[in-house]
Amino acid sequence: MDTQDRLRQLPKVDELLRHADVKRMLEAHPRTLVLEALRESIDVSRARLLSSEGALYDESELLADVRTRLSLKVRRSLHPLINATGIVVHTNLGRSILSARATAAVADIASSYSTLEYDVSSGERGSRHVHCEELLCRLTGAEAAMAVNNNAAAVMMALAALARGKEAVVSRGQLVEIGGSFRIPDIMRESGATMVEVGTTNKTHLADYERAITENTGVLLKVHSSNFRVVGFTEEVPLEELVALGRRRGVPVFEDQGSGVLVDLRHWGLPYEPTVGESIEAGADLVSCSGDKLLGGPQAGILVGSADIIRTLKKHPMARALRLDKMTLAALEVTLRTYLDPEAALAEIPTLRMITTPVEAVTARAESLAAAVREACGEHAVVDTAPDISRAGGGSLPLADIPTTVVRVASASHSAFELERRLRLGEPGIIARIKEDRLLLDLRTVLESEERVVIERVAAVLAGAE
Ligand SMILES: *Cc1c(COP(=O)(O)O)cnc(C)c1O
Repeated sequence: MDTQDRLRQLPKVDELLRHADVKRMLEAHPRTLVLEALRESIDVSRARLLSSEGALYDESELLADVRTRLSLKVRRSLHPLINATGIVVHTNLGRSILSARATAAVADIASSYSTLEYDVSSGERGSRHVHCEELLCRLTGAEAAMAVNNNAAAVMMALAALARGKEAVVSRGQLVEIGGSFRIPDIMRESGATMVEVGTTNKTHLADYERAITENTGVLLKVHSSNFRVVGFTEEVPLEELVALGRRRGVPVFEDQGSGVLVDLRHWGLPYEPTVGESIEAGADLVSCSGDKLLGGPQAGILVGSADIIRTLKKHPMARALRLDKMTLAALEVTLRTYLDPEAALAEIPTLRMITTPVEAVTARAESLAAAVREACGEHAVVDTAPDISRAGGGSLPLADIPTTVVRVASASHSAFELERRLRLGEPGIIARIKEDRLLLDLRTVLESEERVVIERVAAVLAGAE
């Protein structure tokens, strides 16, 4: 057959549309995407017929290609993954996952009308701030509170409200960058405040702040060095002393607390992290933190502090631009409610549960998962367990090594790199770590309900079935 004859074998799109398999695709998926997949697959077949002598049109091959293309086109871009990295607040994988109760509240509020800005008792317009304010005050001891889109927004708005056209005094040791796009000097510039740096990278004294205060000082800013720690010859001014100075000179003190710890984590063997309540007790006029780091709720920026300042912030034009939507408010309210009983918070809020799970419990799960994989895949791999380290992540508890036990997988036929790639690309995607040419799975961040599918997928990848 010459090339022209072979090309004539290629079906037209219209003919394929009458094929039973394609009809089924059309029932399940948007026509435009099916058509696009068909055209692309026909083009690929045509290129193959043109490039290789003797190649013949193969309908089942073409339909398989259409199916693959279509499945990629209809797949949600934002879709679930299994986090087997052991990094709890994993920035790239969505930071905190919500508790079952918070998730249910999101679905509930998203799918019905609600009290978002409606006061049922008066039948009149209400405020969206009421849903979380009282809870935040109870949990932190603050006079007033509000929440915005994220902590970066909270810091930007607070600086704009307190120090636009004025000076904001901050220690050189606290000019942090968090996650690339959040840098204190940049946020400061965008807020319209003039940054006044005091002290040095490793040491800042109270006298440094004192000397920097002028009649044009709008705020004394303290920033939690979330993702690093200066060790050795260092000194920071304790919040209490900064507050005393601020009071004396009539300048408000604002602390960007970062990770949003509401319970003392030392009870569960973790290093000391100041809680938001402690900063309020120390006298900070305003404290901000994230909703989805250690707090374990939805993405949000929480602001708690004096009634005066919060009132100003609520009226600030940025507050309208940075406000929370009802789904986030629903998740935040329920997450905060869970904290009213700290034991329940530890048990139900996934982030808290994961970072406080004792190593013995992770070890037991790791050993049973390793045994199940060995059983499922026989001689295809070497699967065992070993001690390792989990991380809180997300710029939280920077120095905390959380002991864990990982499942280690090595295979004669695939490199760790290849195993990692296949697990990541399959369905559902599993994100694992690599260490010393072995694949590591840390179950600290894997839900128990996900273990079955982890076993199945790891066994299938090892057997070369995917
Ligand atoms: C994480 C963090 C931020 C940014 O918070 P987002 O919620 O990511 O916007 C700001 N300041 C500190 C100290 C942080 O740790």
